[in-house]
Amino acid sequence: MARPTPRFHEHRISIMDRECKAEVGFYDEPPPEHTKGSEIFGHPKKSAKYPALPREHGQLLVVGGGPAGVAAATAAARSGARVVLAERSRRLGGQLALVGHTVANRLLWQRWLGWAQAELTAEAVDVRLNTTITEDDCAHFERVILATGARPMDPATLNGGPYAVLSAYTAISRPAPLTGGSVLVIDHGHEWPAVDAAEVLATHGYAVILATEAATPGALLSQEEQEAYARRLAALYVRVLPHHQLLIPSGGEPYMLRDMASGQARPLADNVGTIVIASKRVPDTDLWQRLRYRSPHVQRIGDAMTPRCVQDAIADGRQAVMSSHRSNRV
Ligand SMILES: Cc1cc2nc3c(=O)[nH]c(=O)nc-3n(C[C@H](O)[C@H](O)[C@H](O)COP(=O)(O)OP(=O)(O)OC[C@H]3O[C@@H](n4cnc5c(N)ncnc54)[C@H](O)[C@@H]3O)c2cc1C
Repeated sequence: MARPTPRFHEHRISIMDRECKAEVGFYDEPPPEHTKGSEIFGHPKKSAKYPALPREHGQLLVVGGGPAGVAAATAAARSGARVVLAERSRRLGGQLALVGHTVANRLLWQRWLGWAQAELTAEAVDVRLNTTITEDDCAHFERVILATGARPMDPATLNGGPYAVLSAYTAISRPAPLTGGSVLVIDHGHEWPAVDAAEVLATHGYAVILATEAATPGALLSQEEQEAYARRLAALYVRVLPHHQLLIPSGGEPYMLRDMASGQARPLADNVGTIVIASKRVPDTDLWQRLRYRSPHVQRIGDAMTPRCVQDAIADGRQAVMSSHRSNRV
């Protein structure tokens, strides 16, 4: 299939409701989907065989195809480096791919994807999907940027007893079908996963209760975002329980919700069938821990440093390349 030719121009994209100027390339026609872009983005099937990672001298390896990794890879390639970008899953985007399932920020995902596809193609970055990088792979590269992102702290480790238990990530990406009854979403992380899961599930017709220990769900988000979520969740009849904590019993006793203001605990409503856990996000540092003392040329960026937002991840990626130029000039 012939590739559409990217057309580049300056464009304004909005990330986290703040407008920022970025060089964004859009295709004249809608960008090809990942699975169709196999010539550009690797082979879609898990079983596909990949050529071995290159071993040419002087190449940069960027690990992780989320916003930070893509920003670093395209910035480095634009400045003349030969770059390999490796992503362990079947598609680019990292956590941002989840955002494509949400009501609030779907557009953010679509814009980023269009931009990423166009930039990676234009800068001839060697993109490897389905490729999990190990410490041995890194040894063949002169320089390595780790953009391995963040993951949920305890991805739904509850023994659910009578309830089905799943992580917010699963609820967002595959919201149906759940067991009958209403869904209780527990906001442990105080960021997007809880409010997004509640909104996606409510949009799919589930009766949703959203409990948080804080005064409001998504308490770490900006005031503006919290208010926007509150309005939309109310419109979807999501029942919000502020200052509530899930008590997990030992020995088969019923699950309880504790009202932290009064100290009183009560059993979950009879009709709750599913509990969705929205955990805190923690950096994915597995590879970093193994590499940090072995090579002086390894740098960590984006959520792999500390979980933040898309805008910060992109800024980190660009900054990593600029700072390496500065140190090369000294
Ligand atoms: C549900 C949800 C909603 C969000 N909504 C927003 C929002 O509205 N606005 C906003 O600004 N931010 C939002 N965020 C946060 C934002 O998505 C992240 O801050 C951003 O994606 C971080 O980018 P990153 O590139 O650092 O890491 P990630 O996006 O986590 O990408 C890391 C990538 O590295 C890959 N990887 C890890 N280890 C390896 C390895 N060994 N080999 C190869 N690949 C590897 C992973 O598969 C992953 O694709 C949201 C996050 C979640 C979970």
